[in-house]
Amino acid sequence: MWAFITLGLLGGLLGLGLAFAAEYLKVEQDSRIEGVHKRLPGYDCGACSYPGCSAFAEAIVEGEVTELKLCKPGKDTHYDAIIEYLNDHRNEDGSLIKVKK
Ligand code: SF4
Repeated sequence: MWAFITLGLLGGLLGLGLAFAAEYLKVEQDSRIEGVHKRLPGYDCGACSYPGCSAFAEAIVEGEVTELKLCKPGKDTHYDAIIEYLNDHRNEDGSLIKVKK
């Protein structure tokens, strides 16, 4: 009986700890990364030399990548959609994230 109570309390405390950690330790991410990610092919193949589409999208938004054709499976429809999206979602200072096909 005591084992169930102890494990129940321990589980509850750990759950509360995780809930607080999730709320107070979360890292805010630029929402445009997800917007760019959605417009990539989504194969997570690594042909762009990044570990996946999400990392490639982050590199684009951070200005590390300026050539979309590094995404080898990508087609003009993907590139055009990303360029259009980034033109509509500028930096806070109004500047553009410059990318080309
Ligand atoms: S090459 Fe394109 S499809 Fe492959 S991981 Fe990179 S962004 Fe994703």
